[in-house]
Amino acid sequence: MATNQANTNRLHPEEQHSKFWQNAHTYFNRVYDQMGLDPTWRQYLSSPKRILTVSCPVRMDDGSINVFTGYRVQHNNARGPFKGGIRYDASVDRDEVMALAMIQTFKNALVELPYGGAKGGVVCTPKNLSMAEKEGLTRRYTSEIMPIIGPNQDIPAPDAGTDAQTMAWLLDTYSMMVGHQELGVVTGKPVSIGGSVGREEATGRGVMNVLRAFLKTKGKTLDGLRIAVQGFGNVGSWAAKLLRDRGAKIVAISDRDCAVRNDGGIDADDAMAYVKKHRTLAGYSRGNGDEISNQQLLMTDCDVLIPAAMENTLDAEVAPHVKARIVAEGANGPTTPAADEILRENGVTLLPDILANAGGVTVSYFEWVQGLQNFFWSKKEVDDELQKIMEKAFAEVNAKADAADCDYRTAAYTIAIDRVNEACRLKGLFP
Ligand code: GLU
Repeated sequence: MATNQANTNRLHPEEQHSKFWQNAHTYFNRVYDQMGLDPTWRQYLSSPKRILTVSCPVRMDDGSINVFTGYRVQHNNARGPFKGGIRYDASVDRDEVMALAMIQTFKNALVELPYGGAKGGVVCTPKNLSMAEKEGLTRRYTSEIMPIIGPNQDIPAPDAGTDAQTMAWLLDTYSMMVGHQELGVVTGKPVSIGGSVGREEATGRGVMNVLRAFLKTKGKTLDGLRIAVQGFGNVGSWAAKLLRDRGAKIVAISDRDCAVRNDGGIDADDAMAYVKKHRTLAGYSRGNGDEISNQQLLMTDCDVLIPAAMENTLDAEVAPHVKARIVAEGANGPTTPAADEILRENGVTLLPDILANAGGVTVSYFEWVQGLQNFFWSKKEVDDELQKIMEKAFAEVNAKADAADCDYRTAAYTIAIDRVNEACRLKGLFP
């Protein structure tokens, strides 16, 4: 089997994540330095408001007790309650969650949701946990962060390594503790217990909406576009499927275990069914294409590259070899600042994470509204409203980039920081 860890293993996890925190600041600082924003709130906007670290003891299936470390970082709530996902991964650490919470603040502002930004994480390897262990961990983590979450305080959601079932346990734990069902405390729930239709595919759908809107400005469509998708979890797989359904050709896909290339096009539905059954893409190349390495996938011949796995995937070593002319960031922070510069110099268009992957939190907002009102929307209503928000956000970023003659990331951060800045300014300081 080809090795797929080469790129992410290059740095020690601790070093990588504190670098990720620095990366988030590099993008933030770039905007302040280039765009002449009012510096009054600069330090405030770049610091998390609250960091909670918790220990979650869990009884394992063999009777032993494991203690898992969890975090919830609340970055800024000037625009509304904190909102952001919870990640389960072995590489989670405090700095990573801090960076993700900061990115979430600006993402939520860019699509004009009435939210601040937060993120949670638990250090664990979800695929090594049984259902019972995962449930125990989720319930304990929920009870530990209970004092700082709530429908008007901080609303978690899924992220890498968590899903609708995880959110169902969170909902139940919180509801049991407050003594009544509280649909608004979490989004990304199963539809049958108050989730929203269209939430599961929403991040991938948003990637598709933004890419399509960008192509339109060039007089192009998705038809025949050759796309490589790195990461075949929720975001990557839905993006691949929705793009393929609209005429694009998926020439390569990958997960942690396997990367496959097929010039004739990969059937995203078939690959999704395979992953559902086997919980990995390992073995999928048999009969469906050529096995390549994850690194090769990033450099593969294609029109669009969608990094939809973890942060720091596209670094200075890979960037000069990227053949795609468009990079649409499905993941949070997949491009390091050094790679960002190289790609821009090479004329690659980067559709930044806070724009391209904002579809998930946007439909989370719809779910929160539906839950608070106990009034539920149709799939068409969800998809149409999502498309409107994503296209409006893209149009604003595009206009800003034109007006200021800057790249899309700088334009997106400028709009987002301006909005959070404005909320801070209007509210002022307490007391
Ligand atoms: N974890 C997702 C993100 O990175 C969704 C967050 C949410 O729905 O609150 O945007």
